[in-house]
Amino acid sequence: MSRRVVLIGHPVAHSLSGAMQQAAFDAQGIDATYELWDRTPLQLPDTFNEIRADDFLGANVTIPHKERVVPLVDRLTEEAHATGAVNTITREGRRLVGHNTDVPGFKVALDKLVGRQKMPRNAIVLGAGGGARAVVFGLITEGFQRIVVFNRHLHRAEGLVKFFGRTAAHMELRAMPWHESIIEAELAKTKVLVNATSIGLTSDESPIPADILLPELLVLDLIYNRTRLLREAAAAGCEVLDGELMLLHQGAAAFTLWTGQPAPLELMQSKLKEARAGGLRSAEGEPAGPHAEVAAGMAGVSTAADGPDSASPDAG
Ligand code: NDP
Repeated sequence: MSRRVVLIGHPVAHSLSGAMQQAAFDAQGIDATYELWDRTPLQLPDTFNEIRADDFLGANVTIPHKERVVPLVDRLTEEAHATGAVNTITREGRRLVGHNTDVPGFKVALDKLVGRQKMPRNAIVLGAGGGARAVVFGLITEGFQRIVVFNRHLHRAEGLVKFFGRTAAHMELRAMPWHESIIEAELAKTKVLVNATSIGLTSDESPIPADILLPELLVLDLIYNRTRLLREAAAAGCEVLDGELMLLHQGAAAFTLWTGQPAPLELMQSKLKEARAGGLRSAEGEPAGPHAEVAAGMAGVSTAADGPDSASPDAG
């Protein structure tokens, strides 16, 4: 029987995940198709009943449903439970299990960004959505001792902090209002800066002004592109990394959950780049097209040594 995996989101017209997962199934000789299902919130209960059938290996869930689907599964893994967000579904008979592979994906990216340095203990997270929840949980479990979350709507950052109450009981997790002077003061005490907002996704904007970026910072942008924040941080002397590695590794972890096999990482990475060059978008909404095509070639850790040219919008 041919098996199916579906990506459930709204919209999901194009998807980088489709390109990398289908290539991985084909390369490993797994008779499965990766389908894109555009479903509104109201359609989710019926959709989740449909994927309990035997022909489904599982599913991916993306924007805007990651938090909404939590009550629709029968069991949550520790990471899905701890983050309150699900991006991957597997089946146990007719029961559905909700996983969060954004967490391991983020940890791979964090490790790459930190490199041979000692794992830092202080971080600033910009944003308080589903992506930020995976980031904050990843940081807590990596042993960070102080995490400050800034969000445009403060109440959402406060909600996130409250949600992690018990998980973060041993350390300092704080929500702060989005004021430039407060962000600047906190940056001076911090080693890691993560952008988990969608600022920079569809426009050439940075969440923070370039002149408050200090050269010692390690800067990760979840957006799968060389954003203005990353270009300005690299120009200021910071180590920077975009969201490609996280996207790749959340997909690889999902592949292994569905198939029980290790993911063909190199193939998936090259399919990601190829799909972006062809103009596809990630389910996470990263921009594609010529701008992204160049960025795909530049993905990875870099520093100011990339030179000022790489900081021009055309180069990113
Ligand atoms: P959500 O929609 O859940 O959250 C969006 C966040 O961005 C919120 O904190 C929101 O603030 C903030 N935001 C959006 N627009 C603005 C603005 N104009 N000014 C200030 N803040 C703004 O999305 P996700 O958390 O799922 O995704 C966030 C980003 O992370 C996306 O760009 C996504 O592509 C990326 N991502 C990448 C992944 C990867 O694998 N590389 C995985 C997951 C996410 P507010 O609450 O105030 O509206």
